[in-house]
Amino acid sequence: MTTEPSGSADLPGTFAYTWDLVGDPAAAERTASLGVGAVVLQAAYHSVRAMTPHHPVHRTVHATHAAAYFPLDPHQWRGSRLRPSSPSWAVDTPDRFGTAASALRSQGLRVEAWLVLTHSTAAGERAPDLTVCNAFDERYGYALCPAQPEVRAYATQLVRSFCERYDAVEVPALMLEACGWLGFEHGSHHEKTAGADLSRGCRDLLSVCLCAACRTGIEAAGADPTAVARTVRRTVDAEMREGVRAPGTLAESLGERAAEALLRHRQSVIESLTRQIAAVAPGREILLMADADPQTTGPDSGLDLGGFGGRATAFVLKCWGDENRAVTLLKEAVRDSTRPVIANVSVLDEHPDELAGRVARLRAAGAQTIRYYHAGLASPARLRALRAANAREAVRAMTEATTPTAEGAA
Ligand SMILES: [Zn+2]
Repeated sequence: MTTEPSGSADLPGTFAYTWDLVGDPAAAERTASLGVGAVVLQAAYHSVRAMTPHHPVHRTVHATHAAAYFPLDPHQWRGSRLRPSSPSWAVDTPDRFGTAASALRSQGLRVEAWLVLTHSTAAGERAPDLTVCNAFDERYGYALCPAQPEVRAYATQLVRSFCERYDAVEVPALMLEACGWLGFEHGSHHEKTAGADLSRGCRDLLSVCLCAACRTGIEAAGADPTAVARTVRRTVDAEMREGVRAPGTLAESLGERAAEALLRHRQSVIESLTRQIAAVAPGREILLMADADPQTTGPDSGLDLGGFGGRATAFVLKCWGDENRAVTLLKEAVRDSTRPVIANVSVLDEHPDELAGRVARLRAAGAQTIRYYHAGLASPARLRALRAANAREAVRAMTEATTPTAEGAA
């Protein structure tokens, strides 16, 4: 048994849900056969309806609320308004994470815990005053606001509970999703917001949280939150009702000074949350899902990657969608970031046959490694594309290792 788990972070990996593995004796071997060395395994996750194309028993899973996929000790949560729920659709195996993780480790795979922190409608319903509140005083029940100390305490306790159950040799890394604000974008199955044709700028304004804690934070950072709220309302209404497009950046909408104060407030809260989490996760790598645009809210926290003063071993950057754009964004993130950048690549994108080329370009652009999204959701054809991309990367890595003067793959 090794006590030095890091280093293998460079191996390519894939995301997986616990239900992709639990109850399927062939799943871990099938995952290893993709050529990955690591699996980002669901430990705490929001609601989802997922296909399970490879599972021998079920075809779909409907996780109707956010849940933790490891046993919870009720004593640890006594007195907290926010607490994770157990998955009522999966009562057969209480330790689903541990069961799936053991199977993956038996195939020599490194296990990373996938923890979604501030996205939980179930938790938001228990404490509506801790959810994101837009400038119209409307709450986003699916989004807990991390400026609220109770929310940071909840996220930290979630990680502490996890780390007390699984040691750092078993699970050397934590991948943190929604370690900041979810904004206006929800992406739920029943979303009916697209027809308003809101611009990016308008959606970013609707994503500005003005709850009591954020008002205090924005003020401390040097802006007047009441003035910010007024400007947001005016600009959003002008677009929604009169068709006057909101400017693209918060600096243009709110003014440089207010926008800088808002982003400073956000960055400082996220830094503080990662420090709190790192303190209860000694010896673990913190892989932080991030977006290099500080204006962004969502599962990937918008950050100034170069100025980040929190705790992160690496940033995980979503490289989905248009390939040229993804490569450019990754290149810029690698240039600006003080930490390694891992590329989150979707196997579910439109052209799986182009996956190998995309991965090669992202690696050449400086990605430390790849995390493929997502082994459980992908059809057999998409898994073949994933396997082929990995095989091509393995050849490239071997060529590089044996010919140190080679210039690497294009
Ligand atoms: Zn807030």
